[in-house]
Amino acid sequence: MNLRIGHGYDIHRLVEGRPLILGGVTIDHHLGLEGHSDADVLVHALMDALLGALALGDIGRYFPPDNPHWRGANSLVLLRQVAALAREKGWRVVNVDTVLVAERPRLQPHVPAMAANMATHLGIPSDRVGVKATTNEKLGPEGREEGMSCSAVVLLVHDPDRCHDP
Ligand code: MG
Repeated sequence: MNLRIGHGYDIHRLVEGRPLILGGVTIDHHLGLEGHSDADVLVHALMDALLGALALGDIGRYFPPDNPHWRGANSLVLLRQVAALAREKGWRVVNVDTVLVAERPRLQPHVPAMAANMATHLGIPSDRVGVKATTNEKLGPEGREEGMSCSAVVLLVHDPDRCHDP
């Protein structure tokens, strides 16, 4: 079987005056993630996992933060581009799994919407997208609510005959 695995990680600072956007879901909170784009740490980790599986570097290479074109960019749109890149090369996403680390707010109620958003933009069913949210037991930068981090893994199969655009 021609398989590839990819791993991605990202962390963003929590600051005042920014919306909190995770998996494309805007969540009501007094702090948001700082970044050049929408700072969607979940989608960023997932994109890096995809690019890693393809050995194509990272999102900084495809969407450089010093390029004003990506200012405030919707990360789901970027995810769609990365998924299309994988398909062009004949790779189909089997499944993805992610772990979001955030002390507050409670993210569990938003998990189904996050998974559905990412599945739509990847062009796969949402039962192939795992999203888990955990606190950091008040330890480290996530535990002190200085930021949120996320890690992601993705499995790809080389299947050129079934790599049509969704
Ligand atoms: Mg990022």
